[in-house]
Amino acid sequence: MIEVLKAGRSAELKAADGRAVRDTVAGILEDVEARGDAALRELSEKFDKWSPPSFRLSEQEIEACLAKLTGREIADICFAQEQVRRFAEAQKAALRDVEVETLPGVTLGHRNLPVESVGCYVPGGKYPLVASAHMGVVTAKVAGVKRVITMSPPFDGAPNPAVIAAMHLGGADEIYSLGGIQAIAAMGIGSQTITPVAMIVGPGNAFVAEAKRQLFGRVGIDLIAGPTETLIIADESCDAEMAATDLLGQAEHGFNSPAILLTTSRALAEAVPAEIARQLETLETAAIAGKSWQDYGQIILCSTDDEMIQVANDLAFEHVQVLTKNPDYFLTHMQNYGALFLGAETNVSYGDKVIGTNHTLPTGKAARYTGGLWVGKFIKTCTYQRVTPEASARVGAYCSRLCALEGFAGHKAQADLRVRRYGRAPADA
Ligand code: NAD
Repeated sequence: MIEVLKAGRSAELKAADGRAVRDTVAGILEDVEARGDAALRELSEKFDKWSPPSFRLSEQEIEACLAKLTGREIADICFAQEQVRRFAEAQKAALRDVEVETLPGVTLGHRNLPVESVGCYVPGGKYPLVASAHMGVVTAKVAGVKRVITMSPPFDGAPNPAVIAAMHLGGADEIYSLGGIQAIAAMGIGSQTITPVAMIVGPGNAFVAEAKRQLFGRVGIDLIAGPTETLIIADESCDAEMAATDLLGQAEHGFNSPAILLTTSRALAEAVPAEIARQLETLETAAIAGKSWQDYGQIILCSTDDEMIQVANDLAFEHVQVLTKNPDYFLTHMQNYGALFLGAETNVSYGDKVIGTNHTLPTGKAARYTGGLWVGKFIKTCTYQRVTPEASARVGAYCSRLCALEGFAGHKAQADLRVRRYGRAPADA
């Protein structure tokens, strides 16, 4: 039995938003394509009231940002980057080149090659998302990307010093203070002064996510990493304070950040609304988190753990926290999610800011077909092959017949030439 105790308006709101966002993005991408730098400047002025002499920060401007941070702040950024680096390096080490003899004389292989140039977007509309710099820039550098450029909007009328420091300390090669659709367009399309990249990564609001989606094909993208979603799976072992704190902790991302409580405990489900109201009275970001909870928050009551897993797999949410007695049961059975947080001791905030797993994660049900950003997203797995004369004659005979089956005369000629040149195929061919 699945009972919805609080429904969100997410589907209805998202459909209307989606159409408007698609049209805005398409118009802006066309404008940047046609007018380059002039369009970027006008758009930045319009959306962010920001038009500096150059969007690219000079070495002196970067140094000035670093100088504004305390030693503690720099050390904290370095600590977080080291955690991201360690995990990314371990993941990279697990990626192996392959070479195998699949038939006598037929050698097939693949090499893992880094993308040559990447643009990392770092969100900065509502909060300066320092951690997104670690997630994009550090991971790209571990992958071996040669040119890593990075863009973030101004915050409170200027580049945010902590964001710029994190980009620089992470190893970015070019740093720009430009945000939103115009930043994605600058990285993907380029302009008179900005050389476009081969791939764009990073999270952002609905405009940023849609701009990446529309540019996909022309450039690579990591995934659709739009407005944050969080799902709490809890049983009677979880108390209302923890459930409410973890729901609001993610609802504060934006006005459209769904936070859902899925529970087998009616007592918990009934206690959480009052606890949320209580916590909103003192939460500094209550205006955003409260609105998001009101419009997008949900409470769903289930009878069993398996029912919760079924609902959670259908939701395919970005973040899934498991606050139950048996979190590993969910690790074994969950199929669709961006990142799992197992047990009350950890939480999404650790993943967002410091622990080392990547926080750029799939939203809008993209978790049905992809995980989050990781070092492998920056790496192309490219195949090659090598064949002995004997094997060429044998495979060529098969190939010739298969080409005839499809009507590909030119392909057949390629195969037939090898069969003639390298000898008769063995009897079984
Ligand atoms: P942002 O940098 O993504 O977007 C800000 C920019 O949006 C502004 O610079 C402006 O140029 C543009 N913009 C704003 N209103 C516009 C309009 N009406 N038309 C055209 N452009 C407009 O910062 P944000 O808005 O704070 O959003 C950050 C988002 O990133 C949040 O939704 C958060 O949930 C999400 N996020 C997602 C993940 C993930 O992995 N999925 C991780 C972290 C953050």
